[in-house]
Amino acid sequence: MDKLALSEIQTLADGSKKVGDLNFPKRKVWVKTYGCQMNYHDTERILSHLTPLNFTLTEDQEEADLMLFNTCAIRDLANQKFYSHLGNAKHLKVNNKTGREVKIAAGGCIAQTESKELLKKYPQLDFAFGTDVIDNIGELVYRAYSGDRSFSVTSWDRADNYSIETKVTHNSPQAFVNIIKGCDKFCSYCIVPFTRGREKSRSIAEIVNDVARLVTYQGVQEVTLLGQNVNSFGKKNGESLAELILELDKIEGLEIIRYTTSHPYDISDELIAAHGKSKKLANHLHLPVQSGSNTVLRRMLRQYSIEHYLERLERLREANPEIVISTDIIAGFPNETEEEHRKTLELLDRAQYDFIYSYNFSARPGTKASKMKDVLTKEIRGRRLREIQKYQLDIQAKLRSEMEGKVFRVLVEKKGQMKGVTKWMGRTSCFRIVHFEPESLDQSYQWHWVDVRITQATALSCQGEVVFDYGRKPGLVQ
Ligand code: SF4
Repeated sequence: MDKLALSEIQTLADGSKKVGDLNFPKRKVWVKTYGCQMNYHDTERILSHLTPLNFTLTEDQEEADLMLFNTCAIRDLANQKFYSHLGNAKHLKVNNKTGREVKIAAGGCIAQTESKELLKKYPQLDFAFGTDVIDNIGELVYRAYSGDRSFSVTSWDRADNYSIETKVTHNSPQAFVNIIKGCDKFCSYCIVPFTRGREKSRSIAEIVNDVARLVTYQGVQEVTLLGQNVNSFGKKNGESLAELILELDKIEGLEIIRYTTSHPYDISDELIAAHGKSKKLANHLHLPVQSGSNTVLRRMLRQYSIEHYLERLERLREANPEIVISTDIIAGFPNETEEEHRKTLELLDRAQYDFIYSYNFSARPGTKASKMKDVLTKEIRGRRLREIQKYQLDIQAKLRSEMEGKVFRVLVEKKGQMKGVTKWMGRTSCFRIVHFEPESLDQSYQWHWVDVRITQATALSCQGEVVFDYGRKPGLVQ
């Protein structure tokens, strides 16, 4: 499908846009995004393609002319929420204020694998689109407004290379930059290789130009390099994530580089060395382990042992003694024994994670794990998850208490209310959220760099006081 050429869009005297035979008056788009950072970033790309068609974002679903659901298939809970939201959307098919028909579309991972079923079951859905066609959303919306209904586009991009330009629609110094898409790992519980396709990397040269442009023209200071398995970046092109990081390190004005998500099998010596060499790589790494038991890891087809994983952590901590590690854990993988579960608790002791994301196993249709005969009950899974979380919180409280009295530099993201008190929230290089009170209520710290001394740190919250306010870095878009 050809992309709509922006040069073909004319702005008319009444402010509407003329595209081909259609007029696009000013309209509102409402988006619901489920799941991971990749999905949130995809939503941002989608919105950037809808702006030329005269759409602006609304938070109010009842005001929408176009409703988009960007779905996630990783966990059953997210699927169920989406089905329920889509079901309810039938009551909003006509905009109460304008009387116009509301177009409804679903994209992302569930749409990639279930588009036909969705269109059949939910007649209010106008179209469904897969994960590899989000840059064609303009054409799909055009088709919907020219009268086409109940269609789906879930084709894969067959090109060998992966080439895009990062789109940001916000005035923030933080940007997500896709560097690789797809995954070749096929962990036994994961649906991603089926919803996102095989691995394809962008080139280092393209990404460096892209980030330099974001830094120079959009005031970006912090980038998060994104992909399902960023550690595989460049393998098929003879490039590597470590090389990319060291090239990005040279961009003047860029302050922090993060990357996610990592696979422990692919954490190379070269990448570990980059954690020591790079001046801008964050003091944080999210390294999903999933289980502390080697036998469970084998059933998960994770390709590494706990010994390998812990050896990588040790090397990372040698390369950067400030580094803070977080992880993902699945509680109650099919047929997990009590002993295997205890191995996960042991791992928490050995790895000393700063925080964990932990979930009950949830079978994804089509994966190997979903076909495993399983003896575990919901109650056993729930109990094990609670044990893991409680165990981790004790470790976390101890680790965080060591922050008290120390000064951390944070990039301030927003303000909010905590128990009736106005506080600003910033994030450290090590990805910890820190709250502090402003010196006066009318003082704005939005996107300032601030040194904060930690006055109180518990497992779940860090409070501090301002030591020095550096203000905004020049070049930041207001
Ligand atoms: S590496 Fe991650 S994205 Fe790839 S299959 Fe395994 S869990 Fe899924």
